Amino acid sequence: MSDDLSRRQLKTGETLYSQGDAGDCGYLIESGSLARYSGSGTSKQLHAIHYAGDFLGEMALLGQRIRTATAVAREDSQVLIVRRQDIDKRLSESDPLLREFLITILSDMRNMLISNWDVTKSSAEGLASAVRQLQDVESMMRGLEKSEFVLYYQPIVRLDNMKVAGVEALIRWNRPEYGFLPPAEFIPLAESSGAIVEIGRWVIEQACADMERLGINRMNEDAESKSPFVSVNLSGRQFSDPELAEKVGEAIQVHGLGPGQLKIEVTETELAQNIQAANELLLQFKLLGVTVALDDFGVGQSSLEYLHQFPADTLKLDRSFVSAIHQDHTALTIVSTVSRLAKELGMDTVAEGVESQELADTLQGLGIDYGQGYCFARPMPIEDLEVFLEEHGTI
Ligand code: C2E
Ligand code: CA
Ligand code: CA
Repeated sequence: MSDDLSRRQLKTGETLYSQGDAGDCGYLIESGSLARYSGSGTSKQLHAIHYAGDFLGEMALLGQRIRTATAVAREDSQVLIVRRQDIDKRLSESDPLLREFLITILSDMRNMLISNWDVTKSSAEGLASAVRQLQDVESMMRGLEKSEFVLYYQPIVRLDNMKVAGVEALIRWNRPEYGFLPPAEFIPLAESSGAIVEIGRWVIEQACADMERLGINRMNEDAESKSPFVSVNLSGRQFSDPELAEKVGEAIQVHGLGPGQLKIEVTETELAQNIQAANELLLQFKLLGVTVALDDFGVGQSSLEYLHQFPADTLKLDRSFVSAIHQDHTALTIVSTVSRLAKELGMDTVAEGVESQELADTLQGLGIDYGQGYCFARPMPIEDLEVFLEEHGTI
């Protein structure tokens, strides 16, 4: 699309457009990132952060509109300028069916905006909740700068010898006045606002730094076992982070992690929505010696299909059916079948949510390689993990 479009280079801190400006074009970010704010001075509020591949200011393409926010470059960035005539030109050259479809949608959207652009229609409640969300995103980004996020680590244990084989990094937000927030309370908003890209990069760097601090390589005293590893969770939104593979490569190199010592966990659901981007990323990870785990396996709809489409190294069986195997014979059959299938595909298996020794024994009997759960240890800060590993022998 970029052949005859003009570009604009922005220096860090430079404004692309300001709230209240009349707009007649949209922008596609080619490199760098921009923050979108509303208000100014003390009432300034961050809406979202946009990265390469994101479109912004697009409402202007539906007709001359007043900008409702200000967009500022967070680093040296380059944007493609997209005008209404650029869209019209491409529409006229496109497949007739596609053209009619898009023209109809564009004109419906324009009519809808013109007739419904009535601020009084938005409920006070809806507005208050939107404002709260914006404030939360802003304090999340500020929290990242002020080191309010921490990683907790939960041991993953080899079921045949009960040694710690690796750990999973689980994020917490020590938010002032709220205390330690679990990921369920802020990751969804981080994902929908795009803040997860920045947070996710931090998680990878921090997990690798923590493993260096723990002396991950010195811990590998058991010659029979594989290298100890740290597992990090990735959101689907991060698949399209153009700098992700580079940041991962930097982190493992700077902190001295060897092949197989960093594992990336992706869930089946997010994979299903981004299978192409995920596969491309997987190839890059393979080159870096980073392994991949398919997380929460069994909660999605067509699980077995993804085993073939996405060659992961590890399969993590979801807690929901691991915990059911003593009550439900079908769950037991599923776990045992998946365990055999994973072996055939050359994957190792981790059972999540192992809450009793009895369950750990059953799982081992079914051929599951590793267990993770409260029966072994809860997620803990790095200082406690150091003590735990000293007391329980390691990887
Ligand atoms: P997950 O990846 O499935 O992580 C396992 C969750 O199960 C953790 O919850 C862990 O504390 C909990 N858990 C572990 N063992 C047991 C057990 O025996 N019983 C029970 N009932 N629960 C157990 P947590 O830490 O609240 O994390 C929740 C989810 O948040 C994670 O699920 C993961 O999807 C997401 N998450 C955590 N850290 C990150 C991160 O850095 N980035 C992203 N994108 N997502 C993250
Ligand atoms: Ca996980
Ligand atoms: Ca999981």
